Amino acid sequence: MDSKFKITCLCLFCQAPLTSDENAVFNSGDMIKCKSCGELNDYDSVIEIAKEKGVEKVKSEVYADLEKTVKHLFK
Ligand SMILES: [Zn+2]
Repeated sequence: MDSKFKITCLCLFCQAPLTSDENAVFNSGDMIKCKSCGELNDYDSVIEIAKEKGVEKVKSEVYADLEKTVKHLFK
């Protein structure tokens, strides 16, 4: 997996990055405890927000690449 597109999950309460053990696996319906503020984050909500952010990130990367390609074509 390309680390450039790594999605960062943020705490819904304090916006701190949610860190977990390397091998931790979360499933739909799980609660992720924030190590910063101690609040429990609903996994589904966290992922939904992270996905939206990730999609935006990917989109901007794709557009940047596209722009380069177009410029190259019309050199
Ligand atoms: Zn937090």
